[in-house]
Order: sequence, then structure tokens, then C-alpha cells
Amino acid sequence: MLKVIILGTSSALSSSEIDNTYLAITYRNETILIDCAGSPTYKLLKAGINLSSINNIIITHAHVDHIYGLPSLIHNFWLGKRKKDINIFANLSTLEIIKNLIELHQLDKYLSQFKINYQVILEKENNLFFDNSEISIISSPACHSTPSFALKFIYKNNNKTLVYSGDTGPCASVSNLAQSTNMLIHETMCPQGSIDFTLETHTSALEVGQIANNCQVDKLILIHYDQSLLDNINTALNEIRKSYSKEVIIAKEFDCYYL
Ligand SMILES: [Zn+2]
Ligand SMILES: [Zn+2]
Repeated sequence: MLKVIILGTSSALSSSEIDNTYLAITYRNETILIDCAGSPTYKLLKAGINLSSINNIIITHAHVDHIYGLPSLIHNFWLGKRKKDINIFANLSTLEIIKNLIELHQLDKYLSQFKINYQVILEKENNLFFDNSEISIISSPACHSTPSFALKFIYKNNNKTLVYSGDTGPCASVSNLAQSTNMLIHETMCPQGSIDFTLETHTSALEVGQIANNCQVDKLILIHYDQSLLDNINTALNEIRKSYSKEVIIAKEFDCYYL
């Protein structure tokens, strides 16, 4: 069974109710961490995830809310006497920033105990970069203010798929990736009605409903939202319902979803 565990749900601006977005995918005894916001060890352990089950970390882009927990996690791996190497997947510019962060925090001196293998994710559509007997992972570029990508997980045991948009405005390459997916976890900043400008690098509730409908997804899960989405939840859901009639879930911290 492939399980998605939500570790945070907010946009870059967190609040007393919501913390920055990141998530984990578990299958077999493996965990893949997607992005790394605050207090990762606390969040992972609280979610029942053993740190030693993490062999692969994917960082969708270099914005601070997606990356700032990574130095702490690497440090905690060392304090926890980790011996296994870890793979970090990101695009080239993000990998450079990760390497700088590791250096800035002087974590490289700990890396005799375990190694970080940096894996470049190419900025092209339908980029298959991870494949084993149970899952494949494909990336496609997103439309954001810095190079970023969306991810598609194909679970081979039942051929079901999950797409995570990362940070993005409405974007053809993300929609292509999300066509007919079983589960779409899509960033949704706020209701369209609560802003007086066009979001180009993020997605409104009105837009995410149109995307979910056009892509014919079975289930839509909202993530990376502002407090204003929670404060105006009926407005947001009404906007989504203008286009999309299937199941809509507002992701909450420590929610689990199954493929
Ligand atoms: Zn973000
Ligand atoms: Zn961002």
C-alpha cells in the first residue's frame, strides 16, 4: 500500500493553525520525503515515521518554506548515528542552494559518517527519474517564480497514481501530468474572491476546481494554503464546486491518504 502523510499544509506564511507544507510517501518500509519545512524530526516521529526509513528526499524548489528544515534533518541524521547514505533529488539550481546550506551550517564535517548523493532532476516534461519494482516517479516543470516541478507517483501494485503540484500557478505541464490521476494534491493559496490581483505563480480555489475538472481527477486534496482559505472555506469550496463535483479534501497536518 502506498501511503501519503501530510506533515504541513500552509503557504510560506504560516499561522497559529497551520505550518509550512511538506509530505512523506511511504511504501514497503521506505519513506520518500517531499520538501522539508520546520521541525522535521519531531513531525516525522509524531507521524510514526522512522528516520532510518528515509532514503530519498525530493526538494521541489529552493523557496525557504520548502527547504529550511533540511539542515536540521541532516544534523539529526548525524546525531542519530545514521550510517546509510541519503539521496537528495532537486533541480540543478536548488541543489546548489542545498549544498550552500549544508556548508553554511558546517554540516559537511559530519558527512564522513554517511554521504549525501545529489541527484539532478532535469527541467523537462514527463521526466522519469525514479523507478523500482513498486513505484515510478515522474517530474514535470511547474509555473512558479523560481524553477520548480510537480511530481507523479505511479504505484505499480495497483496502477494507481498520485500527483503533487508543488508550488505553481495554473500550468499546462502540471495539468498534463495530472490527467486522470486518482489523487491530485494541489496547492490552493486562497479563494479567487479574496484577492484583487491575478495569481500567476500560485493557484486560487476557483482555478484548482477548473484544473481538477479538466484533468478528470478522482479526488482533489488542497494544500499549501493561506490562513485566508481556512477563514473563507465556504467561499473556497463554492468556487471549486463551480467546476468540480467529485471529492474535495482540505489537507490537515498528519492526515494520511492511501493509493
Ligand atoms: Zn511554498
Ligand atoms: Zn514557492
